[in-house]
Amino acid sequence: MVVKAYGTQAATLPLEPMDITRRTVGAHDVQIEILFCGICHSDLHQARSEWAGTLYPCVPGHEIVGRVAEVGAHVTAHKPGDLVGVGCIVDSCRHCAECDEGLENYCDGMVGTYNGQTADPPGHTLGGYSQQVVVHEHYVLKITHPEEQLAAVAPLLCAGITTWSPLRHWGAGPGRKVGIVGIGGLGHMGIKLARALGAHVVAFTTSEGKREDALKLGADEVVVSRDAEAMGAHAQSFDLILNTVAAPHDLDAFLTLLKRDGTMTLVGAPAAPHPSPNVFNFIMRRRSLAGSMIGGIPETQEMLDFCAEHGITADIEMIRAEEIETAYERMLKGDVKYRFVMDIATM
Ligand code: NAP
Ligand code: ZN
Ligand code: ZN
Repeated sequence: MVVKAYGTQAATLPLEPMDITRRTVGAHDVQIEILFCGICHSDLHQARSEWAGTLYPCVPGHEIVGRVAEVGAHVTAHKPGDLVGVGCIVDSCRHCAECDEGLENYCDGMVGTYNGQTADPPGHTLGGYSQQVVVHEHYVLKITHPEEQLAAVAPLLCAGITTWSPLRHWGAGPGRKVGIVGIGGLGHMGIKLARALGAHVVAFTTSEGKREDALKLGADEVVVSRDAEAMGAHAQSFDLILNTVAAPHDLDAFLTLLKRDGTMTLVGAPAAPHPSPNVFNFIMRRRSLAGSMIGGIPETQEMLDFCAEHGITADIEMIRAEEIETAYERMLKGDVKYRFVMDIATM
């Protein structure tokens, strides 16, 4: 099946309309008519080969929501007409220890929704900036939010799960003080989810203009991280800090805000390394620096169900497909409140 998509042929070229081929629906496959796709900063890193290893043509997009168009003979969990989502994973080995635990995100055979190895043409996966996608049933999530919220659900499939998984793993909840660094797509979801889990939430931003928004999103306190005095007031007080910043920066400024045994988890994936942190900031209080990558399929469903139950969606700005390059440039300037979502009908 040939469908319309937006992608690029090289790191230095803009995204443009292109035709791509989707495989025939197999026995365990679900064919999805894509309605909306969120724009993640990872899409920009990948399209412009900032992490190296991008395969072209590159069609980004891993915050996919839409309607089931067709299912294979053995599919029982989904049926035509259902509202569904696909996040960052479209395949994995399904028999290793990680897959058995529902942590497909850490499987050596994990296949990303774009730039992953596949037998389908052109030999690597092509993402959600496209009209249709065909995905193995195991990686298709159920959406129970009201249909009118569908576009604002899309960002949950990456920004939502990437913050939910570490918040759950490191125990964000009542009585815990949690910092969220960087109020972008991931960060704004981190605030909403940490708040809904019952933690005391402090938002860290470089943008004074986001102070009021961060409070509305659910932060109990907001700190402009360029203000050394305001930072110092939180010294040695955090159980967990989730750092979503997409650029290299001084980690020590945040490590010193952790209490004894506190952890800072990095989810931001900048193209260049952070300056090396001071070892004494770990030794002196048994602190940890950690990382976390998206989340597994069961926890993604758990997060979607939690969000539906608590009325949580992303704050979005809808774009037409041809506005994608402008959206990327605005994202680089931190000028997005708080996630762009592409209306696939405009393709
Ligand atoms: P985003 O919407 O662009 O948000 C990033 C935020 O970081 C900005 O809004 C800004 O917040 C802050 N920031 C501060 N200085 C910055 C600078 N010099 N350049 C860019 N941002 C700066 O990006 P996102 O979609 O949330 O993604 C954030 C990062 O997480 C990206 O590197 C992305 O690739 C990565 N990511 C990782 C995973 C994972 O599995 N670990 C999953 C998805 C995305 P303030 O204005 O508040 O300072
Ligand atoms: Zn993403
Ligand atoms: Zn596996």
